[in-house]
Amino acid sequence: MSLKGKTAVITGSTSGIGLGIAKSLAAEGVNVVINGFGDKDAIEAERAGLETTYGVKAAYDGADMTKADEIAAMIANAEKTFGAVDILVNNAGIQFVCPVEEFPIEKWNAIIAIDLSSAFHAIRAAVPGMKARKWGRIINTASAHALVASPFKSAYVSAKHGIAGLTKTVALETGTFGITVNAVCPGYVWTPLVEKQIPDQAKARGISEDEAKKILVAAQATKEFVTIEQVAALVTFLAQPISASITGAIIPIDGGWTAE
Ligand code: NAD
Repeated sequence: MSLKGKTAVITGSTSGIGLGIAKSLAAEGVNVVINGFGDKDAIEAERAGLETTYGVKAAYDGADMTKADEIAAMIANAEKTFGAVDILVNNAGIQFVCPVEEFPIEKWNAIIAIDLSSAFHAIRAAVPGMKARKWGRIINTASAHALVASPFKSAYVSAKHGIAGLTKTVALETGTFGITVNAVCPGYVWTPLVEKQIPDQAKARGISEDEAKKILVAAQATKEFVTIEQVAALVTFLAQPISASITGAIIPIDGGWTAE
């Protein structure tokens, strides 16, 4: 059994890990709906590239992950266009680094909305179709911060711990319908999300930007950044039919960070 002809919606896939996941699933013959913000022409080039490189259908949906109605419409449109949403990857995420007493309230609200609530809204919209077809794969991009905390990331760590709870709960509710629900928990992956936090990390800790970069991977046994391709390969494995018994799992892919 293969994934050929199935359809995946990957939130936050115009950049970084999400784009890597879209490519990896497309390489297995999966039609993909990509989502996220960015330059219009660059997004169209990525969408068209997915079709020509992998011979699948690729659509773009610009739904804002802070808006419940746009998320529900994205799932409904994908079902209408492709006939099903078989694989849902909740990947969109943002970060903000700041001591808790100075943490801007609007940043807290945005992180909870994009990194946690958007997954709830997408799952809520996609599960009925998956249940009806008796097959589904829901994979949430959590983080090592779903398992452990770091200072100055109160909103992000709260949202990612929340994603772990959502993952386990929905796994229990959908297990008899051929649906699996898992969370992957990357350590530090070099993407725009990480690059952007280096100056704030340096400021919050009173160190140079070079030192801040080293601090990020210091907790990982490998002392290396995790790669986008490694995370995408794990997500694609979880999407395969052979992974039917892996559900409710919160899976680290963090170079050994959370082993300590
Ligand atoms: P990224 O900044 O490269 O990509 C984030 C994506 O989310 C982009 O496509 C962006 O347009 C999209 N996005 C942001 N706000 C959105 C909104 N309101 N509506 C729709 N899309 C929106 O970041 P990344 O590092 O690839 O992060 C992807 C996921 O991986 C996030 O959930 C992040 O928390 C998680 N993660 C990243 C790392 C890391 O080290 N990079 C580690 C662990 C977990």
